[in-house]
Amino acid sequence: MNPVATACILDIRHDSVVDGAGLRSVVFFAGCPHHCPGCHNPESWHEENGRQIDVQAIIDELLDNPLTNVTLSGGEPFSQARAAKIIATACKKAGKDIWVFTGWTKEELLEREDPDELALLFTADTLVDGRFDQNQIDTTPSFRGSTNQRILSRPFS
Ligand code: SF4
Repeated sequence: MNPVATACILDIRHDSVVDGAGLRSVVFFAGCPHHCPGCHNPESWHEENGRQIDVQAIIDELLDNPLTNVTLSGGEPFSQARAAKIIATACKKAGKDIWVFTGWTKEELLEREDPDELALLFTADTLVDGRFDQNQIDTTPSFRGSTNQRILSRPFS
């Protein structure tokens, strides 16, 4: 059986204007290892709160919306990097702009040298990186939760 046939997700939401620039369809992956104090969505920490869904079905739903670009969020998309990279690659090939939110920093991802994580990183157009810090909440209109997080554009190496 193909081990990346499914991804564990909380939800797919369309027409978001708060998860990246413009109008976006957002895949919320289930499971997050960071457990940031003050996380706005602690139910996203546990995979058992999500559902397994066919990766191709996710791609089909994202591509079915001609108006939106694509954001991968969570939870932690890099914890399911193999599935996330397949989704990101297919959507990018179809002309979608890809944002990825992660609790890891770009440097941590590069240092780990995991092939699936690197493939996901290098497919993204924009990376919002770093763990949420409740002592540095960003009160300006922004796509990040705290000011230590960065909104980075490719290239990421
Ligand atoms: S990385 Fe995001 S989803 Fe994960 S615990 Fe931190 S704030 Fe919550």
